[in-house]
Amino acid sequence: MNPSYRKWMKARVPDNPACMCTPISLRMRDAFPELVLMSGEITTESGQVFEHTWLQTEDGSYIVDPTSAQFGEGVTEYVATLHDGTDPHCECGCEGKLYNN
Ligand SMILES: [Zn+2]
Repeated sequence: MNPSYRKWMKARVPDNPACMCTPISLRMRDAFPELVLMSGEITTESGQVFEHTWLQTEDGSYIVDPTSAQFGEGVTEYVATLHDGTDPHCECGCEGKLYNN
């Protein structure tokens, strides 16, 4: 991963970023405009499925998920159902949440 991404996340993402996927992804996208905002469903190692928002590189070759720690286990699959970065959709409760930092 780009060291600047890791540094940004270390400084700004809490240890348990539950319900913060959209606001944090938006802020990270603003900091790194080359990243693309993605929304859809993810599957964890234990087979649970969640709505989620994350980022990826423009060519889609690399996923940057600043709030993946909220799942407490690895994510095995990302399925983007929305590619328009202007209107991320997630039902984890993050959308109405303000993230000030
Ligand atoms: Zn969310």
